[in-house]
Amino acid sequence: MVVDLGKRLCTCGFWQLSGMPCVHACAALARVRRPDEFCHQWLTMEAYNNTYAFHINPIPGQAL
Ligand SMILES: [Zn+2]
Repeated sequence: MVVDLGKRLCTCGFWQLSGMPCVHACAALARVRRPDEFCHQWLTMEAYNNTYAFHINPIPGQAL
């Protein structure tokens, strides 16, 4: 497999589809950087915390 760290691409396609570095990218990153630094922003704890930062009120019934 061919990995392009600058463009965040791998020929296996997993990285482009999931936003997470695939095993091939992780192998390429192992000696240079942490793989979690190359995950899509949507997959970060900051994004998770921002998503669930607000209170969600329950709906009064199934019909609504
Ligand atoms: Zn790959």
